[in-house]
Amino acid sequence: MGKPRSRPVNRRDFITKGAAAGVAATAMAGLGATVPDAEAQTPRQWDLEADVVVIGSGATGLPAAIRARDKGASVIVVEANYDVGGHGILSGGSLPLGGGTSWQKQHGIEDSPDQVFRDLTDWSVVLPHGIADYRYNDREVQRAFADNCAATFEFLIANGIVVRPPAFDSGSVGLSALRMSAPVLEGVNVPSPMSPGGGRGAANIRPLEASARAKGVRFLLNYHMDRIHRESPTAGRVLGLEASYKPRFLPGSTTRMESYRSEGNIDLRKPTVNVRARRAVIIASGGSSSNVNFRRIFDPRLTEEHQVGGEPYSFQDASGELAAMSIGASLWGTANAFERRRVIMKRNVVGAQYTYTQWGPNSPLFPFTRARGLNIGIPGWQHVISVNQVGKRFCDETHGELPDGTGYGLIENYVPGSVRNTKAKPHANADGVKQETPLYVHAALAMNEGSMPPDYAAGPVWVIFDAAAAARRKWNVEPPNVDLDQGYFFVADTLEELARQVTRNKYQKVPMPPANLAATVARYNSFVDLGRDEDFDKPTPRYKIDTPPFYAAWGTPVCHDTVTGLRINGRCQVLDLRGQVIPGLYCGGESAGGSNQHGWGRCSCQGYISGGNAAEDVATTSR
Ligand SMILES: Cc1cc2nc3c(=O)[nH]c(=O)nc-3n(C[C@H](O)[C@H](O)[C@H](O)COP(=O)(O)OP(=O)(O)OC[C@H]3O[C@@H](n4cnc5c(N)ncnc54)[C@H](O)[C@@H]3O)c2cc1C
Repeated sequence: MGKPRSRPVNRRDFITKGAAAGVAATAMAGLGATVPDAEAQTPRQWDLEADVVVIGSGATGLPAAIRARDKGASVIVVEANYDVGGHGILSGGSLPLGGGTSWQKQHGIEDSPDQVFRDLTDWSVVLPHGIADYRYNDREVQRAFADNCAATFEFLIANGIVVRPPAFDSGSVGLSALRMSAPVLEGVNVPSPMSPGGGRGAANIRPLEASARAKGVRFLLNYHMDRIHRESPTAGRVLGLEASYKPRFLPGSTTRMESYRSEGNIDLRKPTVNVRARRAVIIASGGSSSNVNFRRIFDPRLTEEHQVGGEPYSFQDASGELAAMSIGASLWGTANAFERRRVIMKRNVVGAQYTYTQWGPNSPLFPFTRARGLNIGIPGWQHVISVNQVGKRFCDETHGELPDGTGYGLIENYVPGSVRNTKAKPHANADGVKQETPLYVHAALAMNEGSMPPDYAAGPVWVIFDAAAAARRKWNVEPPNVDLDQGYFFVADTLEELARQVTRNKYQKVPMPPANLAATVARYNSFVDLGRDEDFDKPTPRYKIDTPPFYAAWGTPVCHDTVTGLRINGRCQVLDLRGQVIPGLYCGGESAGGSNQHGWGRCSCQGYISGGNAAEDVATTSR
């Protein structure tokens, strides 16, 4: 952190600089990630420099870097992780892009930029639980997406991504045309050394990485951007950034985790570096879902027990947002943060901390052994019950995650702009499962029984089953499939003992009363005899939980996407609290606000837009 200025502060300074910086610092105190010091001096010496400096190498950062390079700019990508990709490389990699792409034309799908824009601003699209999906989208940002959508698709193809026909559309990218295509990867869904998590997103990221390196983009890996330098704390141009060396090591060893490719990486290993951006800095750092205090600005219920989809490979720590806010940037479109399928998800993997997906043993991520998890699958919910932190059921366990409802084909008889859409229910979720009342996550987050001040956290959700269920479903309940060591899976001969064991988990802030769990299971078993769930209407409860040993597996909902962030305009320039451009600062992807849209579509498109504009940035402060 830099020292405060030593000269006396006059009244004008206080109003224009000190007060604003003070407000920002106060507002951000205690947010978890490093809060940059807005009063820091511009560095005396730059360690590195390029025309455009990109923060992050995921679904936004790589397209941004390539596009800027294509436009003639020199580019450095600063990446906190030991390898590129972020959430993008863990993803399924489907590309929700339309507006008249060559792929759409090949498949006879009619689409246009105007149609994309109309879809993404259609006020009439309302999810079954009452959330208006597109209503709070920023019109300027959506217009830019619509206008650049098809060009982004062709750009991605030109930079090495190969696509195949999609199985379904889950892209929340409009309902009137199919705008989804999936990448081709050898051995689809098989853990691949190309991807740290075995995800198909490697089929997007690795070609883009190869193209970026071939075109001369340089990568500074293992460096975490901590601060963005501006001419003065809340005025003038952005000049560059400061980053610190934070290598990650193989668990239990001193061996540094290495990137898949090393040629083209800048090897510096200084504790702190200042990187000058001659034209612009692009924030592509992937959002805020891993920063508990920051995500709770938008939804206070997202307390620490909720884990994050991309962890433990990639962390969305809100550092891009915090650094930008400390030099005056505004947040935007925060109404978009509410309960959406990918903001808060129920998963089918239980029994380990990171339950978004089952990390495969061949994955290079597998050294994080505790990340693996027991995949109980959709039919598995008939064989278990879910209980809250005080050992009580709260829902029909067979219910899915929050419905999507805003992808092509998910609302029956969709008519753009029709008031009838507000009454229509999605007929299937993204897994093709018939979806009715989406109770699960609501209930999980709303159940405050046993919660304690100051946060009143809903606490963990525990999935309870017995030895008979494990045998029926052929679940392997031994490590590394389950995490006994860290307290995400427990085994006991009695339900009372199981409740006592569960109390050892670090997120279990209150003891689970043993009598509660025993009574809950006894009541559920009585519903099996009755053939009816009198409490939550689970369809015909079939299996009693009465054969020891008994198991408790971590099943707490997961945060996935960030759908709100920094205010940007259609050129992806970051705006301040007065709506003025912060010269030389751009943002796209999950760190940007104004788009309630999942995934690669908006991220790659905003990378494309920001990279092109950053490369041509000239000193202007007007919109
Ligand atoms: C498991 C999973 C599956 C998914 N499946 C799909 C799918 O099938 N289709 C789809 O469209 N979307 C999918 N998504 C969503 C999609 O991957 C993300 O929306 C997208 O990757 C976000 O792009 P981004 O550039 O904003 O962030 P990321 O791709 O996460 O990239 C951000 C990068 O910034 C780096 N970074 C962060 N802070 C700093 C800092 N201070 N300094 C330096 N570097 C920093 C991170 O390490 C990371 O590499 C999935 C996501 C996950 C987690």
